[in-house]
Amino acid sequence: MHQTYDLLIVGGGLVGASLAIALNGHGLRIGLIEARPLGDPGQPRYDDRALALSYGSRRILESIRLWSNLADQIAPIRRIHISDQGHFGSARITADQARVPALGYVIPARQLSRILWQQLHQCADVTLLTPAQVVAVHHTPEQADITLRQHDQEVQLAARLLVAADGSDSTLRQQLQIPTTGRDYHQTAIVASITPGRPHADTAWQRFTPTGPVALLPQRAGHCTLIWTLPPDQHAEVQQYDAGQFCAAFQRQFGYRLGTLQRVGQRHSYPLRLSRAQQIVAERTVLIGNAAHTLHPVAGQGLNLGLRDLSVLVDCVLSAHHAGKDIGSPASLNPYQQSCQREHQRLARATDSLVRLFTSPLRSLQWARNIGLLAFDHLPPVKHAFARAAMGLSRPVVDP
Ligand SMILES: Cc1cc2nc3c(=O)[nH]c(=O)nc-3n(C[C@H](O)[C@H](O)[C@H](O)COP(=O)(O)OP(=O)(O)OC[C@H]3O[C@@H](n4cnc5c(N)ncnc54)[C@H](O)[C@@H]3O)c2cc1C
Repeated sequence: MHQTYDLLIVGGGLVGASLAIALNGHGLRIGLIEARPLGDPGQPRYDDRALALSYGSRRILESIRLWSNLADQIAPIRRIHISDQGHFGSARITADQARVPALGYVIPARQLSRILWQQLHQCADVTLLTPAQVVAVHHTPEQADITLRQHDQEVQLAARLLVAADGSDSTLRQQLQIPTTGRDYHQTAIVASITPGRPHADTAWQRFTPTGPVALLPQRAGHCTLIWTLPPDQHAEVQQYDAGQFCAAFQRQFGYRLGTLQRVGQRHSYPLRLSRAQQIVAERTVLIGNAAHTLHPVAGQGLNLGLRDLSVLVDCVLSAHHAGKDIGSPASLNPYQQSCQREHQRLARATDSLVRLFTSPLRSLQWARNIGLLAFDHLPPVKHAFARAAMGLSRPVVDP
């Protein structure tokens, strides 16, 4: 016997869980399949990894009634400071210049995940299938059939639309044999909490160094989250350092703009690569979030782009559903393919170019990028346009 759904989402990470919540309340039968057991309900800790959400993501989360639950967990970003280590160029963007209350918001990933799962338990249209693994997928022109392993049993499911939200190594993408383009950056990001010697004043710092970008994001409790990108040999060496050596080494990269850095928390490492699916709509299936694109975290855009995917997909699905059409047909999903594929390509190119430009040892490029930073800092209209694009303000917002 098949359990039948309108829509099955594979992957209950930040994007898959948000999508299920966004689609709840419209009379669709939704199944959410997640390999891991339900989330950890703990309070925020010093060591939590933080994510920067754009102002555009705030608007998407507001439109699906999630923002008010996050409000007391977030730290606003009111200023961004960009510099190039050892060179003259630097640039600043402020929320006032962009005419928004904040340029972005920082939230611990664990808190966001916890709030999403709390909300999911109140979604009457969503069946949570967890912990469960997809074993096999089969498509017919009318539906997608899935075999699931849950509690040591195989369960057969069917849906008109299957959403692959199963992350960078997406099993579904592999089963559908959808190729990806991209490259290994041969860099690893170390992420950790650190306490600055001076108040962070709601400022996010981005500094380009010859070995890779470093960033500091402001956190609510007065500390910051550092992201330090390094080539593999230096990463291995830095991870051997004790806390004091690590703080001193990071300080040499970042400088003293925030005073003497102290108390570094637990360090986590993330190997970095660029990957983009060549196709994001296949028979009865769409790819969303990291299953469709994995970006360098230099501009903090991965989740923000995933939420923009969500916004467009929700529009397509609900338009088809309310018009009595098939939500999984190519005609219903065509706008998603058209709009998101272009956006993925644009952002993948932009972040990749930024990494190449700011890690190039060529003197001519070093001059060009510093003149660019200076010019940018002195041209308010360019700055305004850039800030609004980076905040995702030109994108549509879900209209539930
Ligand atoms: C160092 C670093 C810093 C970052 N900073 C930012 C930032 O500041 N701002 C920003 O916007 N983005 C940032 N990102 C990117 C962001 O973390 C990701 O884009 C985002 O978490 C992707 O969410 P997702 O739900 O698509 O994928 P994931 O979070 O990978 O979730 C996938 C889910 O699918 C489940 N799953 C996998 N396979 C199966 C299966 N077969 N069956 C069932 N379930 C399955 C997994 O258990 C997981 O829960 C950063 C990334 C890194 C590495």
